[in-house]
Amino acid sequence: MTGIATDDTAMPTGASVVIVGGGATGLSAGWWLARAGVDVLVIDKGIVAWEASGRNGGGCTHGFSPLFAEEQRLWPQMDELLGYPTEFSAGRIRIAMDPVQWADAHRMVQNGERYGFRTETLDPAQLRELVPLAGEAHGAYWHHFGGHANPHRTVQGYAWAMQDHGGRVLQHTTVLGFEVSGGRVTGVETDRGRLGCDHLVLAAGPQTGKLAAMLGVRVPVVAARAEMIVTEPLPLMPVGGADGNGLYGRQTMRGNLAYGGGPHEWLDDCADNEGMGVPPRSSTPLMGNIAAHLVEMFPRARHARILRSWAGVIENTPDGRPVIDRLDDPANVVVATLSSIGFGLSPASGHAVQELVTDGVCRFADLSTLRLSRFDGLEDDWIAQRGWQASPSRSLANPPAG
Ligand SMILES: Cc1cc2nc3c(=O)[nH]c(=O)nc-3n(C[C@H](O)[C@H](O)[C@H](O)COP(=O)(O)OP(=O)(O)OC[C@H]3O[C@@H](n4cnc5c(N)ncnc54)[C@H](O)[C@@H]3O)c2cc1C
Repeated sequence: MTGIATDDTAMPTGASVVIVGGGATGLSAGWWLARAGVDVLVIDKGIVAWEASGRNGGGCTHGFSPLFAEEQRLWPQMDELLGYPTEFSAGRIRIAMDPVQWADAHRMVQNGERYGFRTETLDPAQLRELVPLAGEAHGAYWHHFGGHANPHRTVQGYAWAMQDHGGRVLQHTTVLGFEVSGGRVTGVETDRGRLGCDHLVLAAGPQTGKLAAMLGVRVPVVAARAEMIVTEPLPLMPVGGADGNGLYGRQTMRGNLAYGGGPHEWLDDCADNEGMGVPPRSSTPLMGNIAAHLVEMFPRARHARILRSWAGVIENTPDGRPVIDRLDDPANVVVATLSSIGFGLSPASGHAVQELVTDGVCRFADLSTLRLSRFDGLEDDWIAQRGWQASPSRSLANPPAG
């Protein structure tokens, strides 16, 4: 993950908009703001896209989000808008291995139809032609919407495109606190000094809750570990965007199968991730499960060796939906944490954040279901109530290095 963005070595004094978090959410917002002519600075404690944004499946099909229409409108244009390649590939084949998966897959068909998108039902011969690695399936749908992109290229594209418009990236700089005056955040305290700002955007993934707490604001979000595996390259299939059987993922342009899915491992709290140079490593049981599901769906890939695997930390809100909101107090703060669907939604979430900063309201989508106030009555022990506490066996899954 080298060369994603240049690193400013000189410490700036501030910017009109300071964004905390150099993942897909923060960088897309930075790009939208910079192209709107706003002086913007994105800060990250590590390097950009080192956390979930550089470790995800690349899926861009979030049919149940209020940002879905904007997600679908923007992705086919992203290479042109950014001026850098994202490797976006349109369309998605969803393979169902049993009637339960088939019924679940049908929900996306119906939802697509509501937006005017078409889906075809594939017979076994058509599935074999489009996805030659697939075997016997209960059924398959070909959505003529959605798709996937390369997370590294995309986030790199956001960073470079933002810089092309005059935006700045400050890496290896940890935000420690905020200066509030007159109901507004006026400064950001970092381990390298203070930065002045007119507006603040918190886009720190699972660590957004902890940063918001420094402002006296509760953003309920809990971290969980998810994993992906990558096989050696296989002959390119006519449609590389095929998933199902509990997995998400894609065939890369080089031919590797890159897939994840299945159970996540809840983490204690964001302190687990703080300052981590190396996020939690992948573990054999989860990898083995992903591989087994992949072989059930793609039996003709049975022989393929796994080249690499990784783990990433996903942000989760209590209802699984993002929080994208401009706060009432402090009045110049926008919070954006995407609850595990933030890569695909990033073109749209960045646009929404930009409008919330510059106009105070998002004009292209109704974000009322993403407001923070929906959690006003949330119980203090919401994590325990959902059984989302870290597992006591976690130490087994993350053995000490060496
Ligand atoms: C294995 C896996 C597969 C996934 N698959 C998909 C998929 O197919 N499609 C999809 O849409 N989504 C997927 N996701 C989820 C998606 O990756 C995330 O929702 C998205 O990347 C969140 O982006 P973000 O920018 O909001 O947060 P992050 O990528 O977590 O970035 C937050 C940044 O904030 C920085 N930060 C935190 N605290 C501080 C601080 N105090 N000071 C300075 N910087 C700070 C961090 O260093 C980090 O770089 C997947 C995630 C994983 C792990």
